[in-house]
Amino acid sequence: MKIITLSSGSWGANCYILISGGEALVVDPSVPVETIKKHLAGEGARLVGIVLTHGHFDHALSLDELREAYGVPLMIHAEDDELLSDPEKNCSKMFYRSMTHKGADKLLADGGVIKLGGEEIRVIHTPGHTKGSICLLAGGMLLTGDTLFADGFGRIDFYGGSLHNMKQSMLRLNELDPNLTIYPGHAESTTLGRALENIRFLNR
Ligand SMILES: [Zn+2]
Ligand SMILES: [Zn+2]
Repeated sequence: MKIITLSSGSWGANCYILISGGEALVVDPSVPVETIKKHLAGEGARLVGIVLTHGHFDHALSLDELREAYGVPLMIHAEDDELLSDPEKNCSKMFYRSMTHKGADKLLADGGVIKLGGEEIRVIHTPGHTKGSICLLAGGMLLTGDTLFADGFGRIDFYGGSLHNMKQSMLRLNELDPNLTIYPGHAESTTLGRALENIRFLNR
């Protein structure tokens, strides 16, 4: 499986395109649709779906245009679907944007599998940043959304955030292969092992 990282700079969220066997999946459409289109064309890949790692607005800035342009299913964990239609819960109101979206076409659950070009992407439910935050395990890659960054875990003070849940999620990620490369929702990639070294309660 191939991954393309499209970062949207400063506080903007990373958008990832996963590609396998001529099929593509966009994870967190935070960059302009034209940018995504250009990369899909460059790869000769057909978009088959969109996944949100969680329901925050900054990970979905071009979601509506992308859905409009390609008519592919939007997938999100069941517990974050309510964020899409609620500007307070998806945090857009906090930044004076008031964004709402149509609900997802397919609700994801822990252990679920998304098929892409004959390969499988596994859904790991990792609540803590939001109730329905997920990580996606795709081969040696782990897309962590705002659950885990290179320098620590994500904020727990937004709607649905929970330190207790975040700790459970960190324990869960700690069971995975530390050599996985993580692709976070913001900033740089690193290995899972190195990112988890920054989680104090795991390393006491
Ligand atoms: Zn977030
Ligand atoms: Zn974010």
